[in-house]
Amino acid sequence: MLETTRTYRAKIVNHQQVSDDLDQCGFSASKLWNVARYYTQGRWDEDGEIPDDGELKSELKEHERYSDLHSQSSQRVLEELAESFTSWYKARQRGDEDANPPGYRKHGDEHPRSTVTWKQKGIRHDAKHNQLRLSKGFNLKTHRSDFILCEYETRPDVTVENIQQVRAVWNGDHWELHLVCKVEIPVEDAPGDNTAGIDLGIKNYLAIAYDDGDAELYPGNVLKQDKHYFTLDEYDTEGENGPSRRALRARQKLSRRKDHFLHALAKHIVERCIDHEVGHIAIGDLSEIREDENGESRNWGKRGNKKLHGWEFDRFTTLLEYKAEEHGILVDRTSERDTSKTCSCCGRKRDANRVERGLYVCESCGTTMNADVNGAVNIRRKITQNPPTRDMSNGRLARPVAYLFNQTSGSFHPREQVGCEP
Ligand SMILES: [Zn+2]
Repeated sequence: MLETTRTYRAKIVNHQQVSDDLDQCGFSASKLWNVARYYTQGRWDEDGEIPDDGELKSELKEHERYSDLHSQSSQRVLEELAESFTSWYKARQRGDEDANPPGYRKHGDEHPRSTVTWKQKGIRHDAKHNQLRLSKGFNLKTHRSDFILCEYETRPDVTVENIQQVRAVWNGDHWELHLVCKVEIPVEDAPGDNTAGIDLGIKNYLAIAYDDGDAELYPGNVLKQDKHYFTLDEYDTEGENGPSRRALRARQKLSRRKDHFLHALAKHIVERCIDHEVGHIAIGDLSEIREDENGESRNWGKRGNKKLHGWEFDRFTTLLEYKAEEHGILVDRTSERDTSKTCSCCGRKRDANRVERGLYVCESCGTTMNADVNGAVNIRRKITQNPPTRDMSNGRLARPVAYLFNQTSGSFHPREQVGCEP
């Protein structure tokens, strides 16, 4: 058995009764954040050092704002601030000039509703009645109660037990709960010893190449249609007071549909890997892209776009890791460096190799193949010693099978079965 955590989203059924209390907690978290932000600035100005979370906790635990929330919730706010300062500092050391230090959480006189986290001591869970008691801090306790009683609802297939953390998240319109649960999952033997490489991109959402020379493309048709529809219609309508209620609903809908797509894709890819007896998947690690900015982004276009979509690719990779793990399949995030410039057939790396209409053309050996599949083959090569000959262009790589997503059935089908694209 493998012990790990899963995060489940839950709807608050009695939202009207608890929203004022949650608002107060959210505002308090912002105020405490600002207190700690101010303290950190002082230390930085004084001696150029950033205090860690241990120092913030011991220095600020007597502060009045610390007692607005349960002590573990306050500690989490300070940890978050220390974490964002550390990652800013690292980015700064790498020479990333776009990086900004975490700011104050304030708009004029208003405080935004920050995410509030409860850890085990601040949570009482009644699994039978789907209820959570979330403790308030000393300052927010009223004569009525010292906790917030939330009734929640999750997806029907989710069993909520062994809660480690509850996060109350304001989504711009209402509060929702994220329940972090400890779970044990059975570990199966890997389906086989084969490998697969995955390249994530814009033109094709995903390209996968297997040991045996098979390759598949997932164009992400639904995402493109959705994006087009919502952009034209209401996705971008944003007034001076932020997005309208209508635009917000459209965004939420878009995000739900995207979520559906990403879950279905991760599940489908794992099934394909089981069919191909894959025990080890390599996937391009997009977090490196920020640091890898040579002329490539100009020549290939794809890189710059990938950076924008980084968070979404990261989310997909995490889903894939979850689902693969349950079948004993290992997922490795590997560097994407040079994977788009190198010919997967002869291994020659050149900046001059061309991509035209999504085809990779090698000037050394004359190979022409789908550019994303070429990338996927190169990514797969990073985790295997198998000789490249089996990948050699035998026609399949130049004409990989494209799988389209059917929104209604929630499954993927090869293009022939859903009609041809012009
Ligand atoms: Zn070549």
